[in-house]
Amino acid sequence: MTGPQPRPEVLGVQPYVGGESHLPGVNRTIKLSSNEGAFGAPPGALAAYHAIAEEMFRYPDGGADRLREAIGRRFGLNPARIACGTGSDDLIGLLCHAYGGAGRDIVMSEHGFMIYQIAGTASGSRVVKAPERNLTADLDAMLAAVSPSTRLVFLANPNNPTGTMVPADDVARFRAALPPDILFVLDSAYAEYIDRSDYDAGEKLVGATDNTVMLRTFSKVFGMGGMRVGWAYGPPAVIDVLNRVREAFNVSVPAQAAAIAALQEPGWVEKVRDHNTLWRARLADGLRAAGITVWSHEGNFVLADFGTPEVANAADAFLRGRGIIVRKVGGYGLPHCLRITVGTADEVGLVIETLTAFMGQRRG
Ligand SMILES: *Cc1c(COP(=O)(O)O)cnc(C)c1O
Repeated sequence: MTGPQPRPEVLGVQPYVGGESHLPGVNRTIKLSSNEGAFGAPPGALAAYHAIAEEMFRYPDGGADRLREAIGRRFGLNPARIACGTGSDDLIGLLCHAYGGAGRDIVMSEHGFMIYQIAGTASGSRVVKAPERNLTADLDAMLAAVSPSTRLVFLANPNNPTGTMVPADDVARFRAALPPDILFVLDSAYAEYIDRSDYDAGEKLVGATDNTVMLRTFSKVFGMGGMRVGWAYGPPAVIDVLNRVREAFNVSVPAQAAAIAALQEPGWVEKVRDHNTLWRARLADGLRAAGITVWSHEGNFVLADFGTPEVANAADAFLRGRGIIVRKVGGYGLPHCLRITVGTADEVGLVIETLTAFMGQRRG
């Protein structure tokens, strides 16, 4: 073969396919395919974004000092133990880049978040998937998948796209059973949506061990997916590594300004969480009433299970015909399911109406 060639593992990566945004020939589309939420961005974040526009000729603060301080204040964490990324996807990639590589395996769960597999494979690691139970991470199976070559373990809690979570006590026991040379990455992208008392996003676990990192994002509850801001909270040695391998200016000027303002938006998280709790339940109930199986759901989306790929594909086509875009999850080994983001009250109503009509027509 002629021409430049990347490391062979790079061509083993299947490119990530995001939720679609547009449907040809449909005027109004309702996008419920990327868990962006029902409220858009916080008004204060938009104002900060506009206000900072004239500063775009300046390089950002590479250390994101003010943003890390604002995060620290908001969550009661030491800013020196925080590193920011271009979305948490960036941080996942950096952790794989730094701690993975040839001969350094990564363990994740069967239907775990796709970026772990993509970033892990690209880094040269072998990515080992542990089977799940009831579409929920099985921590015993994940422990069993750990070998002397394992260097990283990723757990999204709750997970995307399944929506299921593991209680804090089980996560802590799992953590305690992992060898100390394995970095445990707890991805809590949906932490703010959880209204259960047996949940911990990971702050405690990070504080108590030297090999746990918690990942968080501004893309979900803060409605800023387009700005690309995420952060890691971890032991000083891991934060030091991230600061060595990250791009020097990885969070842009407007992204930093908007994220700081988003943290200060009064009542925002409560408003989004309350809406989500109410309408997620209504969405799940409505789909169940239509005869669709809905898995337990802790994030800002539900996983609708149509039983077979054929029915899921037909449901997807039916929704698209009516301007509604949801997420196919065949790439996650769930071709019989569709992931549906909790939208506005109207959007939830329309999804229920449309899928009720779909199921009725099938029975017809
Ligand atoms: C959305 C999501 C992320 C983060 O995305 P960024 O936009 O890159 O911050 C990370 N993990 C999970 C499980 C997610 O669903």
